Amino acid sequence: MENVDKICPICRKHSITLPNGVCPVCYDKVKTQADWNTTEWGKIENHGIDAIIVLAKYILDEIEDDDQHQWHQRRICFMQDMVEHLDKQYFPNATIQQINDFAHSAVDFWKGKITSQEATEQLQSMRKVLQKDIMKLSDWEPKDFLLWMMMPKDDFDWMWDQWFECIHACIPDKCNDELWIRMFHKHFPNEIKAWVDNNNNDATNKA
Ligand SMILES: [Zn+2]
Repeated sequence: MENVDKICPICRKHSITLPNGVCPVCYDKVKTQADWNTTEWGKIENHGIDAIIVLAKYILDEIEDDDQHQWHQRRICFMQDMVEHLDKQYFPNATIQQINDFAHSAVDFWKGKITSQEATEQLQSMRKVLQKDIMKLSDWEPKDFLLWMMMPKDDFDWMWDQWFECIHACIPDKCNDELWIRMFHKHFPNEIKAWVDNNNNDATNKA
């Protein structure tokens, strides 16, 4: 069933095919890229796959950071832009000024402009404001999105490679999908284009 009205938000070339939020070309790329077990892929075949999941999990999450954390700096800048656009209700008890200042400090921290000590203090203080004592690993809350910006590498080492998947899990509201997609294209146009243009996306290329 072809939905002629809706262009694929990933490649912006072909129409999406329901129940997927992406076109058949992007769908096939995802299918050949991942090491699927039958149950997992069966679910996608039945219910379709969202464009936002393709961007977060199968395109941007595959990109490795380097020792200088340049990729991570870009992720944090992306998050700062997102924080400006997201409903501030997601970060209860904090003023808009506190939220924006914190996001700005996180960018400074990852650019080496403030010390780890200062970052830790700001993180602890924002945790108090948001009333968040520990990071729950199994049950993301929107307020985690903000706190994650200042988390040093040691604290989330095991999920370093799952960054986008995890931050999207904090704010999965469907009404935000358009914002996520717009921001992904704004901040990572070359990475998305590289994936779209690559005709050899298979499991052997992943390693
Ligand atoms: Zn597409």
